[in-house]
Amino acid sequence: MATTNGAVENGQPDRKAPALPRPVRNLEVQFTKIFINNEWNESKSGKKFATYNPSTLEKICEVEEGDKPDVDKAVEAAQAAFQRGSPWRRLDAPSRGRLLQQLADLVERDRAVLATLETMDTGKPFLHAFFIDLEGCIKTLRYFAGWADKIQGRTIPTDDNVVCFTRHEPIGVCGAITPWNFPLLMLVWKLAPALCCGNTVVLKPAEQTPLTALYLGSLIKEVGFPPGVVNIVPGFGPTVGAAISSHPQINKIAFTGSTEVGKLVKEAASHSNLKRVTLELGGKNPCIVCADADLSLAVECAHQGVFFNQGQCCTAASRVFVEEQIYEEFVRQSVEYAKKRPVGDPFDVRTEQGPQIDQKQFDKILDLIESGKKEGAKLECGGSAMEDRGLFIKPTVFSEVTDTMRIAKEEIFGPVQPILKFKNIEEVIKRANSLEYGLTAAVFTKNLDKALKLASALESGTVWINCYNAIYAQAPFGGFKMSGNGRELGEYALAEYTEVKTVTIKLDDKDP
Ligand code: ADP
Repeated sequence: MATTNGAVENGQPDRKAPALPRPVRNLEVQFTKIFINNEWNESKSGKKFATYNPSTLEKICEVEEGDKPDVDKAVEAAQAAFQRGSPWRRLDAPSRGRLLQQLADLVERDRAVLATLETMDTGKPFLHAFFIDLEGCIKTLRYFAGWADKIQGRTIPTDDNVVCFTRHEPIGVCGAITPWNFPLLMLVWKLAPALCCGNTVVLKPAEQTPLTALYLGSLIKEVGFPPGVVNIVPGFGPTVGAAISSHPQINKIAFTGSTEVGKLVKEAASHSNLKRVTLELGGKNPCIVCADADLSLAVECAHQGVFFNQGQCCTAASRVFVEEQIYEEFVRQSVEYAKKRPVGDPFDVRTEQGPQIDQKQFDKILDLIESGKKEGAKLECGGSAMEDRGLFIKPTVFSEVTDTMRIAKEEIFGPVQPILKFKNIEEVIKRANSLEYGLTAAVFTKNLDKALKLASALESGTVWINCYNAIYAQAPFGGFKMSGNGRELGEYALAEYTEVKTVTIKLDDKDP
């Protein structure tokens, strides 16, 4: 018997199964203000904006609405915290690492609160927020905490009689603009390496989902980061986001979001002070299933790959290419999975799929579903909103999809699986690489040669072989082509948050 707490199976308690975590019921939102200098501020304009629960469409609370003057104040605080001789700059590297470890401890302590807030604000299933988002946050903080005292320069042999060495120094004030699909996780992906390298930060969470970022502000203060090291300004993209990307005193910006806005951020960055920019943008990720694959593994991974997080992932497996010999069977099994996907209240532990984030995304997804029907794809299941259920959309599978259809070209960001057919490897490589995106790709095959050939031919920042969404704090993540610039996570991320300084000392040519 499927149960709601995982501790009972076939009517018998499984004494070894740990009880599932529980959300915090009737949680009162405590932190709704602008976080600058370890203090909670009202917006200079006096404006607030509401954040909604997409599952119930009810207002959760109002949050202070930042704008350019609030960003200016946050940058001033971050700059002061970065001044030479400040408590943050005087802190030795192991102590910086310790602060990040302590922050991870507090996130772990308050994991259920944070997962509850994330579910309220995004509509994602609570267990996903707890086991995936929060797990990722804790691991990322711990991973970069470990790097703090291991960031080393080199000693370089040169032509002359000199000692030449490099220092990897922090860049200064770093801005971060993050999306609503993994609100806390995407923020931590930027915050952790920035702090580990000794920078200060100004963060802007997405307007749909500001609550976990603000709660994190309270933990930053509790841990004892010096004032001004972390500043959080909630608000909208064209105001707070634009003020951050164009701010002349911000030296680096990390952005995750749409390709469209990514271009604006890069433009604003170059028009202001040529600040360094890392972008993690959209994807239309090919998932290639060869005839020799483990079929049930491929079906399950492709299903999770596209439907996870209500389909709202830049890594979504939203172009599934299946070799013709197994095409029909793959479609049959995929439809079976989609029809069984539990959609509903994100606080119910059986739920795998909650609502879409907002009306705009909901309308966009339904429009793309309609385009699929009109352009001749075969609707296998789903294809519409859930009746009388606000922003919920039925898990949808299309077969007989061709490359020119909108559902095969555009990022859907919803629970829609387009399945295409291919005949041979060269053909599928060309088709997979034909779009402007290049974030992730997946390959399912038991043939090692084929797997390696595809891994080298696919134009994407990540290639998963016989797995999906295998993302680790230790391994770099980012995009080729218009899916982005730079890499987050792993040792590679450190290069994005440090300046390299070359120090050359002329030695006396005479013997001492
Ligand atoms: P999505 O389409 O998934 O909502 P966006 O790219 O619009 O993604 O949003 C990602 C983040 O970018 C959000 O925090 C949003 O507020 C911010 N943003 C939107 N417009 C701008 C802009 N013009 N400049 C800077 N940031 C922006």
